[in-house]
Parts: sequence; C-alpha cells; structure tokens
Amino acid sequence: MICFVGAGPGSEDLITVRGQRYLTEADIVIYAGSLVNPGLLKYTKEGCRIYNSAHMTLPEVVQVMEEGEKAGKMTVRLHTGDPSLYGAIREQMEELEKRKISYEVCPGVSSFCGAAAALSLEYTLPGISQSVIITRAEGRTAVPERESLRSFAAHQATMVLFLSSGLAEEVSKELIAGGCAPDTPAAVVYKATWPEEKKFVTTLSELPGKMREEGISRTALIIVGNVINSEFERSKLYDPGFTTGYRKGTDSTEVPAAGKEK
Ligand code: SAH
Repeated sequence: MICFVGAGPGSEDLITVRGQRYLTEADIVIYAGSLVNPGLLKYTKEGCRIYNSAHMTLPEVVQVMEEGEKAGKMTVRLHTGDPSLYGAIREQMEELEKRKISYEVCPGVSSFCGAAAALSLEYTLPGISQSVIITRAEGRTAVPERESLRSFAAHQATMVLFLSSGLAEEVSKELIAGGCAPDTPAAVVYKATWPEEKKFVTTLSELPGKMREEGISRTALIIVGNVINSEFERSKLYDPGFTTGYRKGTDSTEVPAAGKEK
C-alpha cells in the first residue's frame, strides 16, 4: 500500500488526523525534505525506514516504493501542503500505475491556506474578488504563455503565487504591465505556520525592495489583491434580511433554493 499524504504547511499539528494515522502505521516514509517539517517524523513507529526525497531522483523514489510493495510494506510519500499543488505526484502515480501498484491520496492543508490564516485574510471578499488564481512566475519550469502573470492581471482577482519568492521583481513588473495598479496590496508570508514564520504587507511596486530588505527569497507565498486591506461588502449569507435554505430572513424578497450555495 502506498499513500501520498499532505503534510500541511509546516506546523506539526497541521497534518490531518488521517495523515497522522498513516504516518504511525508506515513501514517506509519518503518525505520531501526541502519543505516538509522533519518534526512530523516523530509520529512514525520504531523501525520505520525514512528517506529524504530531496536527495533522490524519480526512479529512486519509485524503486523504494516498488520494493516496499513487494515486501508487503506500507509506504507513505509525504508531500508538503496538499499534494495536488506543485507536488510532482502525477509522475509518481503514473509509474505506480505502470507497475499495477495501487495507491491512495490523503489531502493536506495547503500553504496558501496557512498564509491566509497568518494574515487573517479572506481570499474571496464580496464586491472585491470571488476568485483565487493560484499560479507561479515562470522560473526553470515553463508556464504556458496563455497563463502569463500579465494576462492574469486583467482579472484583478486575488492571486496567490507559489514558487515565486525569488522572482519578485518579475512578479511586480508583469502584474503592473498587465494592468494592476502599482499600489495594489501585496503580502508575503515566509514559512507560514512554522515557528520562524515572517509576514508583511506592502504594495506591488514596493514588493521587490521589501523582499530584499527582509531577505526572503524562498519558502514564501506572494499574495496580491485588494482583499488585503480593503473595504468590502458584507456577505449575503449572514445578512439578517437574507433568507436561505436554512434560515428565514426579515426581508424575503430573495429566496434561493434550499441547499444552493450563495
Ligand atoms: N504542495 C505545496 C506547495 C509545494 S510548492 C502546498 O500545497 O503548499 C513549494 C512552494 O510552496 C514554495 O516555494 C512556497 O512558495 C510554497 N510554500 C510551501 N510551504 C510554505 C509555507 N509554509 N509558507 C509559505 N510558502 C510555502
């Protein structure tokens, strides 16, 4: 049995209950040592074999999984945050599928959720933005041209940039070129939920200078948008006048169907 487990953003108690249980049951753990908190390994049992994938290639990772499977072992592949975001899990899954090895995925708390918590942010504020664009600046991994930061800027939606903290200059330049105002709020959270977490709020034009000043060039998220520091409309969901499928409001002109999300 192979299980891809989301380790959460950093703090040892932000792994899910299920993820923690899998760690306690594992005979083999392969963890992404560059980002996963090694403190999580304390949940493993005596004799569990631990591998740090930061020093391994894909074939080496797959070989450990395959040998473990042949020996009837339970293997946990521990990825930072939630494995579905920049986790390079599909390529591992494909290799397992080729070998007819079954696997399961246990989701995790992504760092973009950890960063929102650190900043007391709501990414989707009524009247400001109802969408979150999760993306990255182009680095060694290419980003399709149709997903350029410049083109996303046109939406003025909340943006969360992974893997881009060494590219702040580029991020600022591209988003402003795409139509974001230079004074659009931008926030940075370094090592969200870790004891050494750092965070600050600035503007898009000041972002590169501020990041240099703070010495942040890795393990950080850049969040851009007017949901940071902004005046917004209150939600309809909790408006005393608004009737929902669960609650009758004082003003019943708008009656959404029961169960419909608003
Ligand atoms: N699957 C992970 C992302 C892996 S990509 C997730 O869901 O969070 C690695 C990038 O994630 C880093 O370059 C950084 O941009 C971001 N990241 C991961 N952990 C972080 C943390 N605790 N605080 C801020 N950014 C983090």
